[in-house]
Amino acid sequence: MIPSPHDAPAAPITPEDFARNLAAVRSRLEAAAERAGREAREIRLLPVSKTVPEDRLRAAVAAGITQMGENKVQEARRKSENLADLPIHWALIGHLQTNKARDAAAFAHEFQALDSLRVAEALDRRLQALGRPLDVYVQVNSSGEASKFGLEPADVPAFLAALPVYSSLRVRGLMTLAARTDDAARIRACFTTMRELRDAGLQAGAVGDGQLSMGMSGDFEIAIEEGSTCVRVGQAIFGARPATGAQYWPEPRRA
Ligand SMILES: *Cc1c(COP(=O)(O)O)cnc(C)c1O
Repeated sequence: MIPSPHDAPAAPITPEDFARNLAAVRSRLEAAAERAGREAREIRLLPVSKTVPEDRLRAAVAAGITQMGENKVQEARRKSENLADLPIHWALIGHLQTNKARDAAAFAHEFQALDSLRVAEALDRRLQALGRPLDVYVQVNSSGEASKFGLEPADVPAFLAALPVYSSLRVRGLMTLAARTDDAARIRACFTTMRELRDAGLQAGAVGDGQLSMGMSGDFEIAIEEGSTCVRVGQAIFGARPATGAQYWPEPRRA
C-alpha cells in the first residue's frame, strides 16, 4: 500500500513533534532497507522544507534536522538568509531557470535538478566567479509525464558526457520524481529505469559516485528497494501541504 499525501501528519510545531515524525520516517526507511537487504545508513534522508515557514524550520533544526530541500530558488535563498545562524545544508531540488543561476550559485550547497547544458553553463560561470564548487544531480523524466522536468532517459548518456567541461559542477548522480499514480508497478518501473541509467553511467565513469536521489513521502520505500541513496521527504516530516497544485506538485513545464 502506498501512503497517500493525505495520510501526512498534521503540521508539527514543536521540536518534539518533529522528532516524532522523523522517527516514524526513519523506521519506515530502516524497514525498507532491511527488506531490500541494504544498510539503512547508506540511504540519506533529505527533509523537504518547501512552503514551511522559518519559525517552524527552527523547531525542525532543534529536533536534529541539518539539511533541507527546497524547490524554489527565491524561497530557498530567503530562508538561508533568515536562518543563517543555523548550520543548515541547503539542497535545491527544483527546476532552475538560467536567469536564476546567479542566485543559486550564491548560497546552494547542492543542486539536484540539472536538466540542460544552458543551466550547467550559467551555473558554472557564476561558480567560477565565486570560486565555489557545487554538487549536482542530473534530473531525469523517468515517467514520461509531460508535466515533469528532466531529461528523457535516452538523452542521459550524451548529457553526462558533456558535463566535465563545467569544472565547478561536481556530478554526484541522478534524480527523478516517479509517476504520479497509485499504481506501485508503474512507480517501481520509473525507479528501475533510473538504476539502470545510473549503472550505465558508472560503467562510463560519467556519473560521479553514482548517487540516486529518488523517493518522496508516498513512494520512498519502493525507491529504496530499487536502489535509492537519497530520499527526499517533505510531508511525512513537515506535515501535509495544502493540495493546491503548484504548492505541492512541481510547476508545469512551460511551452
Ligand atoms: C516536494 C518535493 C518532494 C517531497 O514531496 P513529499 O510528498 O512532501 O514528500 C520531493 N522532491 C521534490 C523535487 C519535490 O518538489
